Formats: sequence, structure tokens, C-alpha cells
Amino acid sequence: MRQVIVIGAGQAGQSIVTKLRSEGYEGRILLIGDEPVPPYQRPPLSKAYLLGEMELERLFLRPASYYEDANIELVTGTSVTSIDREAKTVSIGPRVESYDALVLATGARPRLLPEAIGGALGGVYAMRTLADADAIAPEFKGGARVLIVGGGYIGLEAAAVAAKKGLNVTLVEMADRILQRVAAKETSDYFRDLHKEHGVDLREGVGLKELRGDDRVREAELTDGTVLDVDFVIVGVGITPDTALAEAAGLEIENGIRTDEYGRTSDPSIYAAGDCASFPHEGQQMRLESVGNAIDQGELVACNILGANVPYVPKPWFWSDQYDVKLQIAGLSMGHDEIAVREGEGTRSHWYYRAGQLIAIDSMNDTRAYMVAKRLIEAGKSVDPARAANPDTDLKELLRG
Ligand code: FAD
Repeated sequence: MRQVIVIGAGQAGQSIVTKLRSEGYEGRILLIGDEPVPPYQRPPLSKAYLLGEMELERLFLRPASYYEDANIELVTGTSVTSIDREAKTVSIGPRVESYDALVLATGARPRLLPEAIGGALGGVYAMRTLADADAIAPEFKGGARVLIVGGGYIGLEAAAVAAKKGLNVTLVEMADRILQRVAAKETSDYFRDLHKEHGVDLREGVGLKELRGDDRVREAELTDGTVLDVDFVIVGVGITPDTALAEAAGLEIENGIRTDEYGRTSDPSIYAAGDCASFPHEGQQMRLESVGNAIDQGELVACNILGANVPYVPKPWFWSDQYDVKLQIAGLSMGHDEIAVREGEGTRSHWYYRAGQLIAIDSMNDTRAYMVAKRLIEAGKSVDPARAANPDTDLKELLRG
């Protein structure tokens, strides 16, 4: 293995190149990203960084000196435009580079509003990149009227920052409840109350019909006919995996770039990891959108490129910061049929069960419950829902069975 090329200098791309070196790989590594900056963490973009409480330097996953010291050729601000699978080369503009192993870590693109309903007006923002966050920041002035479209984690986090900064915040969610796709009703209820306490005008079961303005957005019409005056709009309606290069190269696509359990695409010399990649899980191709997944899959792919042949076993975890609430999630809650609610002083956790088996937890300011449940879930163990819900049950005891 003389040359590994990684396309996409994000969380997964960084994880792959770091792991290749720490596993002793001495060949050439080329890490290519189209954003104009070295790999950085996205989560603070809708949290501490947007709030102005985190310096730019702290976003970067590694100091600038790392890449030279580790002999990793990092190319930023440059797109890979095509892959020639026969020749095993990639085109980076006019430059052509050959690979022995290639990794697609191209991430995802935010879903945008169609131009026909005002999606291209000034003052309408997505929230995916550092450039997005830097463009939005000057709009966060006390008293400004912001409309947030979408009640997923990113929309809710942006709403929390905006409310904290004294903006007038309206959030619309087309589904019956916020977080419908990812969490139980109990968790939606908790966060709805939290936002309402902080003065957010949160409307569920209402979508956006149209944005209007001259060059800049001025008003928004909702599906229930309400018209709102707005100064700017943040769109947080989900992402789509970036499969463009893979598709053009004829790789199999299924809910993202299709990989096997080893992270290999339909071409054995090409791997995929992170938001762009789907992997086999319980009879389906599953895709996770999280830092933990990008890191773990990236490391797995690096090890498998070096011949480890280890299958991917996802250990999903996620977090979200809203006001002074830290939400921590472990496991996958899909298909749950029972929820145990555990309440303590200033803490709360929702334990998800499927057919009596603990499968996931949402914990609000309860890191201990999160840690205990995470260990149980990863070990395939369970605890009786009534015991989990009882605040008098010692959490550590749950680990003992
Ligand atoms: P990305 O980080 O998107 O990196 C992919 C990179 O590849 C991008 O820079 C892209 O521009 C580049 N690229 C694509 N095509 C090409 C090409 N042809 N040539 C060159 N470069 C290319 N996760 C959590 O676990 N917890 C959180 O609290 C959380 N909060 C988040 C908040 C925000 C605002 C956002 C946007 C995401 C958040 N996430 C969170 C999700 C997490 O950040 C992503 O899951 C993670 O960044 C995925 O990493 P990735 O490397 O797969 O993709």
C-alpha cells in the first residue's frame, strides 16, 4: 500500500488519516477537502461558536503543524472532480493523482429551500459549514426577528442561541412535534417546554409556504396562512449524503454510498466513511449522522485498508446543548415500544425499550444515567424499566445486573 487518498477533509477524513499514521502506515497520504480550512468540528457551529463563546482556533481538529509533522499532504479549498476506477486515479482540477486505496469521506449537504419559494433570497441561511456560521453570526443582534425552519437538533440549537442573545425567535416544524424523526414524544415534550420557557414561539404541525422579499427576505407565509415579518431565516430541514462523486464513478448507492460491514464500497479499492456512507445493519443499509460514527467508521476503514478485516459494530452516541441543558443520547431508539422516565433533582432521562430490551437513552443533565445506560446497551444487557425509572435505584447497581 503506497498511496492512500482521502476525499473530504471533515471529521471522518481526519479520523482516517490519524488512524493510518497511528497504526504505523508509512506510505503517502493525501487528504483533500473543498472547504478553505483544515478539518474542524461542526457541532459547536450551532452551539458555543455561534454564541460567541468559542474561539475559531478551538474548532480545528488538529493544529496546523500536525499535518506536516505527520507527513500528511492536506489540500484545502479544492474539489476532487472525478474518479477513474480503471486507472485508479482521481482528478483534482487539472492534477491527477493515483491511489492504491481511496476513501470517500464526502459528508453531506444541507437540504435547501427551493428557489421558487424564496430559498435564494438574501438572509436565508443553511447551517452546515464554518462559512455558514460566520455568515449568520452578524445577524444575531438583539431584537432581530429570526424564523427557524425545522425542529431537529440543529434548528433547536440555533433557536436556543438566538433566544439567549435576545432575538425574537419563531420556529416552525411541519411534523406534529419537534424531534419526531429522532426521539420519543417525552423528549419532544421536554424540549418544547424548555424553548417555550425561554420565549421561543414554537409552532408544530405548521410548515413554511413561502418566503418573500426584494433581494432580502422580509416576510414568511406559513402553511396555516399566517404571515410573519422576519429579518432572517435559518433552514434546518435535514441533510442528504454527498454521493455525487461516487455516483459518477458508478459505485452502488443505497441510502448513501453503499458499503459492506468492512467499510468497502462496491469497488474493493474504494472505501467510504461518515455521513456519506451506509452500512449493513439489521437487514438494511443504515446511515448515521454523528461525530461518533464519523470517528469510529473512519478508524475502522483505516484499519481495514491496512488489512485488519474488522466488521463495523456501531456504538451510536450523540449530544446536544440547548440553554443550560446537556442532552446525551446513546443507542438507537427506532422501533421502541416502551419508555421509562427517570427523574431526579434537575435531571431527567428517558430509557427506550424494544420487546423488553434496553436499546437507547436520552439523558438531560444526567451524565451518570447516560454512562450507565450506554455501557448496558453496548454490552447488550438490559434492566427492568421499573428499576430504571425508580429514582431510588442506585445507577451503579444497574450495572451489576
Ligand atoms: P463532513 O464533516 O461534512 O466532512 C465532509 C467534507 O468533505 C466536507 O468538508 C465537504 O465539503 C467535503 N467534500 C465533499 N465532496 C468533496 C469533494 N468532491 N472534494 C473535496 N471535498 C469534498 N454530531 C454529533 O454527534 N453531535 C452534535 O452535537 C452535532 N452537532 C452538529 C451541529 C451542526 C451545525 C452540524 C452541521 C452537524 C452536527 N453534527 C453533530 C453532525 C456531525 O458534525 C457530522 O455527523 C460529522 O461532521 C460528519 O463528518 P463527515 O466527515 O462524515 O462529514
